[in-house]
Amino acid sequence: MLTVIKNARLVDSEIDRQGSLLLQDERIIATGSIDAFSALEAEAAVIDAQGQTLMPAFVDLHAHFRDPGLTYKEDLLTGAQAALAGGYTAVNLMANTKPVCDTSEKQAAVMQRAAALDLIDIYQAQAITVNMQGEELTDFSSSLTPLLSDDGKGIADDKLMYKALEQAAANGKILQLHEENPEFAPDITGLAEETMVARDLTLAAAAKAPVYLCHISTAKALKMVEIAKQNGVQVICEVTPHHLALADNPYKVHPPLRSAADCQALIEGIRKGTVDIIGTDHAPHSEADKAAGAPGLVGLETAFSVLYTVLVEENKISLSKLSQLLSLRGAEILNLEQGRVLPGYKANLTLVDLTVSRTIKPEKFHSKSHNTPFAGRTYRGEILWTMHNGKIKWRKETDK
Ligand SMILES: [Zn+2]
Repeated sequence: MLTVIKNARLVDSEIDRQGSLLLQDERIIATGSIDAFSALEAEAAVIDAQGQTLMPAFVDLHAHFRDPGLTYKEDLLTGAQAALAGGYTAVNLMANTKPVCDTSEKQAAVMQRAAALDLIDIYQAQAITVNMQGEELTDFSSSLTPLLSDDGKGIADDKLMYKALEQAAANGKILQLHEENPEFAPDITGLAEETMVARDLTLAAAAKAPVYLCHISTAKALKMVEIAKQNGVQVICEVTPHHLALADNPYKVHPPLRSAADCQALIEGIRKGTVDIIGTDHAPHSEADKAAGAPGLVGLETAFSVLYTVLVEENKISLSKLSQLLSLRGAEILNLEQGRVLPGYKANLTLVDLTVSRTIKPEKFHSKSHNTPFAGRTYRGEILWTMHNGKIKWRKETDK
């Protein structure tokens, strides 16, 4: 089946121009000018994207879908629906489910159920330590995905962390690290994050292992990442939309929301290339759990609007740079054939309207959970539809 998407502003990490795409089944097979494929329109499905912007769908390497075991907060179906509504077609799920995902069998069980939904691509990370207890390493060699993580907890034992990095390097895996030193947590000063980042960059350099640092949030931690990169350490630096957008805000999340100076440092880190990727840390919680002090927020359905407003509109970062942070780097790390609007890539795409403003209404979320500090705030840009493997899997309802 052929599909023509015409009259779009096409944006990816390198491209920003008016044009059209020709799709065959699940793949992009050609790109051209705004009406390049008009001769094919009689035999193709035609989508006129006049006035709208077509981007590669987003990839989130840091999400919690709580399935199995905590499905009153989220499950694979509602998580996938929230992802699609946010413009995402691929997510990497953290291992802090019940039971903890610490074997390839548990990974396979989640990914088989996810595949049966036929909505998005779901990758389930294996934990770094058995039951995420920080005592014994899992079997890295059998992990079905490239990333392993004990996200939600730091690994306190220095020698075990070093051994984990050696194992990761030996098995071609990357550890995704939650940078929070329990000696200093709960962390208001930044020391919990900064002491852990200093340790892990030192150990990663010694083990010659690539390392993915989750949710870097302070200017000092970012500076350490910058220096480590200059010294040849293979570090992938993640920031979240909430740490970029919200300063001096008491909303409970780990790491906490920081100062305006820290936010500006992260934005500068994006400009300079110190920041590699944006992860949402989508962390659904029920109202009761949140009231009892559970940290985190749901991020998939607000990420694009928040990032477009804060980075592109307010800080003049290009939409191509945002596409690189949201789509290309994640696709590269997971080895996905998506992340560009070029022939040969999968037709995993999202159409966005950059002209409208949207007030965040958690009651409209597809997620089971509504915990967000963005409620009631207004941002520019919204998702109109999301396509996975050539098929539109989610479309915004028009309010009439
Ligand atoms: Zn974390």
